[in-house]
Amino acid sequence: MTEAIRCCANCKKLAARNIFIRLIHIKNGIVLVKQSKKHLHGRSVYLCKNKNCFSEAKKYRRLEKALKISIPKVIWLQIENTLKKE
Ligand SMILES: [Zn+2]
Repeated sequence: MTEAIRCCANCKKLAARNIFIRLIHIKNGIVLVKQSKKHLHGRSVYLCKNKNCFSEAKKYRRLEKALKISIPKVIWLQIENTLKKE
């Protein structure tokens, strides 16, 4: 079985999809942090589960650029909370 390889939006590290935090831009413009295996359609962006990639992605607007929408404050909080749980 081959693991899906994805790339961090900040540091460009390549790794198996399941090690990243995933954000999806679904139709109505809302971005969700999803960690379940449930399949959702939409443009996805991946970010390493570490503080460095989180803060750099925020600072340089990496996720906004990748998804082409603005990331609501609540989503950044969700990501931050996810990192704390790791
Ligand atoms: Zn990274």
